Amino acid sequence: MPKKKERDYRPFEQMLRSLRTRFRDDVQSMSDAALHSSEDSSAEASRAPNHLADIGSDAFDQEFTLSLVENEEETLQQIEAALERLALGQYGTCADCGKLIPKERLAAIPFTAHCVRCASKLQHPS
Ligand SMILES: [Zn+2]
Repeated sequence: MPKKKERDYRPFEQMLRSLRTRFRDDVQSMSDAALHSSEDSSAEASRAPNHLADIGSDAFDQEFTLSLVENEEETLQQIEAALERLALGQYGTCADCGKLIPKERLAAIPFTAHCVRCASKLQHPS
């Protein structure tokens, strides 16, 4: 018998699981792409040292791709943490103030651990 009326978070669990699969694939393929372009640009550098502009732009692209991977890994970690909170029955509750996070917010950011108020406080500390 349930102790209290629990909100139904199954749709969010499904969203989180499919997000996790997608982000895992993305992180994997982008890491591969970044490594591959690194091999390309070093080969290019030894073959044609005159094309410094091209090498520079390759390096920029690679940096950009790697920063995307970094963000995706961070998101992936948040997704994992959210699934953990689901397993512990803490999902949907703000990690800061303990209030329930509105379902509309969870639908937009299913891996969030904070209500809108606390999230904006974290982003813009006064
Ligand atoms: Zn809060």
